[in-house]
Amino acid sequence: MAKEELECSFCGRKKPETNLLIAGLDAHICDRCIEQAHGIVVEESKQSDTNDLSAELKLRKPQQIKTFLDEYIIGQDVTKKVMSVAVYNHYKRLLQPPSNDDIEIQKSNIVMVGQTGTGKTLMAKTIAKMLNVPLAIVDATVLTEAGYVGEDVESILTRLLQAADYNLEKAEKGIVFIDEIDKIARKSDNPSITRDVSGEGVQQALLKLLEGTVVNVPPKGGRKHPDQKFIEVNTENILFIAGGAFDGIERVITKRLNMKAVGYAASMSDEVIDQTNLLQYIIPKDLKDFGLIPEIIGRLPVLTHMDPLDEKTLRAILTEPKNAIIKQYKKLFEMDEIEFTITDGALGFIVGKAIEYKLGARGLRSLCEEILTDAMFELPSSEDNTLNVTKSYAEEKLTKTTLKKLKAVS
Ligand code: ADP
Repeated sequence: MAKEELECSFCGRKKPETNLLIAGLDAHICDRCIEQAHGIVVEESKQSDTNDLSAELKLRKPQQIKTFLDEYIIGQDVTKKVMSVAVYNHYKRLLQPPSNDDIEIQKSNIVMVGQTGTGKTLMAKTIAKMLNVPLAIVDATVLTEAGYVGEDVESILTRLLQAADYNLEKAEKGIVFIDEIDKIARKSDNPSITRDVSGEGVQQALLKLLEGTVVNVPPKGGRKHPDQKFIEVNTENILFIAGGAFDGIERVITKRLNMKAVGYAASMSDEVIDQTNLLQYIIPKDLKDFGLIPEIIGRLPVLTHMDPLDEKTLRAILTEPKNAIIKQYKKLFEMDEIEFTITDGALGFIVGKAIEYKLGARGLRSLCEEILTDAMFELPSSEDNTLNVTKSYAEEKLTKTTLKKLKAVS
């Protein structure tokens, strides 16, 4: 072979296009590929000794994070994108080797605003599942300031420790989802009248936790008492995700957008305002006007919203996610060798009822359960090995009384 025809076996560059081409037994490698390969070797060895965090966290790029979320959560594209970036940056911050350039990447704690049942908890759960880190879900309404009846803020960390099987290292890289954060908003505009037990005091207590601090945590929960053993938990690397419905915040947004509360689609400069989804315009100041203290808002720097679930989304929730409700029933019936099918008409009927009775996504499951209970009871011991649920079948099983019952428990 003529010298000019030799090429790099890795990138295919011809010898004249390279600065150097090194020959092996039956292959060649050029200077650029050597450099790249060297980079990979350095990176790999660095990774293996930045403890096993990288392996454990199964870090993915934002687009991959979103693809993962897409498998489980329907719609909510804006939030999925925002969450993907925030989670990626948070864990990148953890993996970052210590440097002396004074640039400290701050935490990207997140606050999600959206009606109940739109998938906020699901979002936090899916992210924890993807990263394989422990997740604690806590309800802000039970939290009170130390000394008052209720749970101390530290109980959040007890839950996280429990979720991590008391593995402190794991817990310190976990995720905490604080639900109903809106319920600890300051109730009155004048905080000085009386102490606001359930509101501002809890916000104050949460501040340090969100920011990053070392907290003495009673491992079994409960009140702190003098002869109890504590575990010291550092919250610096714990990702906090807060969620809340913020009922009535639309009014705050509307006011800010300077529109009439009801009625005409006023124009926001040149953009038309979508009255059906005002949450998409939310900004941190709206949270402040709602009653969150500025310090809390500052420590939840990523603000995002959940879209309301429309008919199309509810229908997709029934059938599309990886563990969609309909897929679960199919599997259940399959175990008894029963072929389960459901018509489009029946799906439409279920979604229609969920909307009519304002049951939301959570109601879909109860509706299906009501429709299918008889079949699940009878078919396993019958000769029948097919079940086709049509609209009229669903209508027959779902009486007004059961619907009212579902409405009452939702
Ligand atoms: P939230 O925390 O906002 O009140 P959840 O995450 O608990 O709502 O959602 C309730 C249930 O509804 C979930 O378990 C899930 O099955 C379903 N759900 C809600 N929104 C979605 C969605 N966007 N995609 C898939 N399932 C959803």
